Amino acid sequence: MTLPDRVDVAVVGAGPAGCAAAITLCAFTSLRVALIDRAPPNRKPGEMLQPGAGELLAYLGLSAETVGAVHRPSHAMSAAWGSDQLTEWPLIFAMGQPALHVDRQGLETALRERASACGATLQLHAVRSTRKHDDGWALTFDSDEQPAQSARFLIDASGPGARFARAAGARVHTTHRSVAIWSTARAALGEDIADAGGVLVETAPEGWWYSAAVPGNGLVAALFTDAAILTGGALNSPDRWHEALARTRHTRQRLSNAGGWTSPITRPAHVQHLAPAHGADWVACGDAAMTVDPLSAMGMSLGLTTGIHAGRLAAAYCAGTDVTDCGYSDEIARQHDMHVAMLDRCFAQERHWPDAPFWAARQAQRPATKVHAVAAVA
Ligand SMILES: Cc1cc2nc3c(=O)[nH]c(=O)nc-3n(C[C@H](O)[C@H](O)[C@H](O)COP(=O)(O)OP(=O)(O)OC[C@H]3O[C@@H](n4cnc5c(N)ncnc54)[C@H](O)[C@@H]3O)c2cc1C
Repeated sequence: MTLPDRVDVAVVGAGPAGCAAAITLCAFTSLRVALIDRAPPNRKPGEMLQPGAGELLAYLGLSAETVGAVHRPSHAMSAAWGSDQLTEWPLIFAMGQPALHVDRQGLETALRERASACGATLQLHAVRSTRKHDDGWALTFDSDEQPAQSARFLIDASGPGARFARAAGARVHTTHRSVAIWSTARAALGEDIADAGGVLVETAPEGWWYSAAVPGNGLVAALFTDAAILTGGALNSPDRWHEALARTRHTRQRLSNAGGWTSPITRPAHVQHLAPAHGADWVACGDAAMTVDPLSAMGMSLGLTTGIHAGRLAAAYCAGTDVTDCGYSDEIARQHDMHVAMLDRCFAQERHWPDAPFWAARQAQRPATKVHAVAAVA
C-alpha cells in the first residue's frame, strides 16, 4: 500500500513521540497525517514510565491497561549510590501515583494502533530524505515502490539522530556521552514479577547498573558507561558483561535466579539537545529534540509530552498561525539545562571512585549552565 501523495503533516518515526504527535493531530483536528516508520515495533530499551504518564496516556485516549502496563506498588526506586547500602529514592514528582512498568513493544503497538484508529495513515517505509520546496516538504523513501510524497509541515520524531531536523539546519549539542550495554532475562520459574521488585540502581567503578522487572516475568539489566571504557574492557561481550555484573553486590544478588540472558546490546545513551528544535514549518520531538539520561527514566514521558506539543504546533501552523516565535526551542533548551543541573547533583553524590574515568569525567568542574527563559509552547 502506498502513502497518499500529499498530506498536511508528515511525522517521521512512530516511537512514543511520533505516535503522540499523530494522535494529537488526528484526535483534535481533521488534518491529513502520515505516520511513517521504517520498522514494526521492536525490541527497544525503556520499561519504566514515570508516575504521571497515566495522564498523558489518558489525553491520548489510552490507559495503563490498554498499553499492558503493570502498576508497581512502590513510589520509589532502590539505589546504592554514594553508599554501599541500598536506600529508597522517592519519585519526588509522583504525587502519590505509582510508576508504570511496560512491555516496550506492547506500548508502541498500542500507540500505533491508536494513531491508526484516529485516522493517521500509518506506513512502514524508511524515509530517505526530506527536501524543502515552495509549498512545504518533499519526502523520498528507500523503497522504489513508494513514490515521493509532499507535506505542508514536517515532524521529526526519528530518535536521537534527528536526521531530518539536522537537514533543516538544526544542530545536536551533546552534554554527556554514555553508552548502555543492555540485556534481558526471564525471572526464575515460579517467581512472580512482584517479587522481582521495581527499579534498582547501583554504582560501579566503570559506571552504574540498572535493573528492573517488566510485565510477563521478564527482567532487564543494563550497564551505563563510556564508549572508551566499553571498548577497553570489551564489556559488550557476554562473558565480560556477566563478569562485571558478578562484581556488583545488590544487582547480582537480585538477578541470581534469572536465566535465559540475551546477548548484550549496546545503545548510545547520550544527554543532548537540538537547537533550534523547531522552524517555520517543522518541529522535532522526543529524543530527536532532547535525550535525557536513562537514570531519570523520563525519556518516554518526555517523548509523549513533546510529541503532544509538536502535534499542537503543527495544527497551529496548518490553521495559519506563524509558529516561528512560539518558544518551543527555548523550552527544550530550558528543560535540557534543568536536567543537566539535576544530573550534576546526582553524579556529585558518588565519591567511591574519584579517579575512575567514568566518575572523574562527570565530577569535573563544568561551566555554570545557562538557564534559558521560560517560554510558552504553542
Ligand atoms: C538503555 C536505555 C534505557 C532506557 N530506559 C528508559 C526508561 O526506563 N524509561 C523511559 O521513559 N525512557 C527510557 N529510555 C529512553 C527512551 O527509550 C527514549 O527516550 C524513547 O524511546 C524516545 O522515544 P522517541 O519516540 O523519541 O524515539 P524512538 O523510540 O527511538 O523512535 C524513533 C522511531 O523513528 C524511526 N525512524 C528512524 N529513522 C527513520 C527513517 N529514516 N524513516 C522512518 N522511520 C525512522 C525508528 O524506527 C523508531 O521507531 C532508555 C533509553 C536507553 C538507551
